[in-house]
Amino acid sequence: MGLRVPRGQCLPNARSPCDLLLIRLNRGIRVLEFAAEGDFAMIKRFHHNLLCILAALAVSALPTIPCLAQTQTSPTPQLSVHWEELTASDFREGIHRSQGTCLLPFGILEKHGPHLPIGTDLLDVRHAALHAAEQEYAVVFPEYYFGQIAEARHEPGTMSYSRTLQLALLQETTDEMARNGCKKVLIVNGHGGNDSLLPFFAQTQMDKPHDYVVYVFDERTPQHGGPARKTTIDMHAGESETSKMMISRPDLVHQDRAKNESGADQARQKIPGGVYTGIWWYTRFPNHYSGDGSVATRELGEFQMNWWIDSVVKAIRAVKADDVSLKLQNEFYEKSTHPLDTQP
Ligand SMILES: [Zn+2]
Repeated sequence: MGLRVPRGQCLPNARSPCDLLLIRLNRGIRVLEFAAEGDFAMIKRFHHNLLCILAALAVSALPTIPCLAQTQTSPTPQLSVHWEELTASDFREGIHRSQGTCLLPFGILEKHGPHLPIGTDLLDVRHAALHAAEQEYAVVFPEYYFGQIAEARHEPGTMSYSRTLQLALLQETTDEMARNGCKKVLIVNGHGGNDSLLPFFAQTQMDKPHDYVVYVFDERTPQHGGPARKTTIDMHAGESETSKMMISRPDLVHQDRAKNESGADQARQKIPGGVYTGIWWYTRFPNHYSGDGSVATRELGEFQMNWWIDSVVKAIRAVKADDVSLKLQNEFYEKSTHPLDTQP
């Protein structure tokens, strides 16, 4: 449909620079079409407009490329990855866009040496998970820190929930996430003390049918590459963790206090390595500090945090692509109701 151009005016009241440019281009094409058909009267009528078009094209040279790009592919509307920031209808769109994949970044509240905040694991894991979800869209559950940390009950600020509550709360949380469309719940673990709890939780999903799959991603630190590390003992609030906090929340790192306490391994328990006790951690690191945060650097933190974010991105992509787990889980649940029929 043609555009009406008021007499003596080059262009109508267009709505945006892109509209203007498209109008100009359309008119130019029409003039050329008329010329090809030998309609000289029409050419004369458009003579004034043609001059306008040429002038306008010269003026519009700079915004041309972004405008054309915009008209060719409509950009995907921005959608927060934060569960709590979405409106109800945007949440529905978020679940659709994430293909039902939701992240549950799992932190903890515990002492982190003399120099890092109590919420270090929570702050770091959320930094990694949120940045990963922005690269590969997933809905990210709010702050969650109700994990296993009995070994730090002797230190200020530790929130240590009972084992029954840890499991019950996590189950109800993932159940509720799934009821809201998160059929793939990816728990991103930020706390080493959860390393028995989370696989156990995932294993217990086989107890009874669930219409969703729990995935656990439990890697935080690359074993190779990046700036050389200066320390060998580096398990808690040490070189790596302090370096990562320099990226996620540098304002909360008090590196000048890192040597106020010892993070050395006191190696006080004399039993073979294959024999496990719950007190093992306290026997080695009674200050709830393992390593030396004073040697941390931003360079190491940047390398490790980027590695962590990339690793979570890969995990999200793998989880989205996984069409096997839920299918076989359902098959398993069905068979488990009549095990005597399972062959061979
Ligand atoms: Zn930590």
